[in-house]
Amino acid sequence: MFRAILEALKNLFKPIHTMDYPAKDMELPKGYRGLIEYDKESCIFCDKCEKVCPPGAILFYQPLEGEKEYRYNPWLCIYCGECVRACPKPEEALWQSETKQQSAVKEDAANEGWFVWEASCKQSREDFKAAKIKNMSEEPI
Ligand code: SF4
Ligand code: SF4
Repeated sequence: MFRAILEALKNLFKPIHTMDYPAKDMELPKGYRGLIEYDKESCIFCDKCEKVCPPGAILFYQPLEGEKEYRYNPWLCIYCGECVRACPKPEEALWQSETKQQSAVKEDAANEGWFVWEASCKQSREDFKAAKIKNMSEEPI
């Protein structure tokens, strides 16, 4: 009993280690895995990031002509870094910033919009494939 009281008294005068969050901003540790950043100019559109992403937080829209369009959903992202590891141009085309993660609060508007986008990306791939097959069959032998 005496020992417990002594410990409690000692702890009263020890420095505080808890953070006064959100009154004070968090200090991020080195190597913090934050939001994914993308640079279209450096991207070679290999789709590796999209293929390895566990929750499907990266999608590319495939137009019939021109470059693919990148989309990223920070509310779906689990910040695992697999996309950056798979990217042939890490730190140039794709990297994990130190920008803090999105709140865990579900953003319904963002997710509903994402499902629409997901369906249109899927459709765009099918349209692109069909157009390619059509072009090949029309080519003179
Ligand atoms: S960090 Fe993980 S979950 Fe987030 S986009 Fe990259 S692969 Fe997907
Ligand atoms: S893996 Fe890298 S280069 Fe390939 S599509 Fe994704 S961002 Fe672009």
